[in-house]
Amino acid sequence: MCGFELRKPAYVDGQGSLNICPCCKFQYGWDDDARHETFESWRKKWVAAGAVLRVYGEDRPADWDPARQLRNIGINIEDIRVAIEQSKTTEP
Ligand SMILES: [Zn+2]
Repeated sequence: MCGFELRKPAYVDGQGSLNICPCCKFQYGWDDDARHETFESWRKKWVAAGAVLRVYGEDRPADWDPARQLRNIGINIEDIRVAIEQSKTTEP
C-alpha cells in the first residue's frame, strides 16, 4: 500500500486482517472490501494530505522519508503528485 513495513499481516488466508497500517491508516479488509477503496486512490489521498507518517514514539523510524518508502514498493511519489494535479484540473 504505502510501503510501510507492517508488523502484523495485511491479509490472512486471503481475508483482510482488519489490521490498520500505522503509517497511512489503511485498514485491510475494511477500506478495501467494505469501502471499495483501491490502493491507488488511497495512496493519492495519502499523498494529497501530505504523505504524513502518523507513527509516534519508539515505533517511529528516525530517518523516515515517504518518497523512499514508496520507492521500495516500486512507486514514484512524483507520479502520484502529477496524478493529483491532473485530477485537480479536470474535476470541477
Ligand atoms: Zn500504509
